[in-house]
Amino acid sequence: MTINPLRTRAPVEASERPRPTKRQKTAAWNAAGGICHWCGKPVAPDGLDVQWDHSLPRYLSADDTADNLAPLHVRCHAQKTSGEDRPRIDKAKRQEKLAAPKVKRRNGFTRPPGLKFDWSRGRYVRTP
Ligand SMILES: [Zn+2]
Repeated sequence: MTINPLRTRAPVEASERPRPTKRQKTAAWNAAGGICHWCGKPVAPDGLDVQWDHSLPRYLSADDTADNLAPLHVRCHAQKTSGEDRPRIDKAKRQEKLAAPKVKRRNGFTRPPGLKFDWSRGRYVRTP
C-alpha cells in the first residue's frame, strides 16, 4: 500500500488573528451609526446577525483598529468578501508574485568544488 503524502501532512495552521475587542466593536458600531456598510440597513447590535468587516481587507492593510472595522450583516459580509475583497486580494497576490525575485532554475549539474573544465582534454581536472 502506498502512502499519500498529501493525506499524511499535518493540517496547516491558520495564523492567529486578534478578535475585535468590545471597545473596538462599540467604537465601530457608533461610527457606522448602526448601519450596515454594504446594504445601508440597520444592524442589530445583539451580535446575532452582525459580523465585523475589515473595510480595507486585512490582507492588504493588516489594520485591526476600530477605524477599519465596520458592522455588516452576515449575508452582506459574504457578498462583500466574495465580490469586492477577494478580487482585490487575489490581484495583490498576483502582483506580489510578479514583483518577487525570479528563482534561477539550475540544470541539475553543479561543478564539484576544486575542479575546472579542461577544454583541451574535454573533461574536468583538479586545479592545483
Ligand atoms: Zn447589510
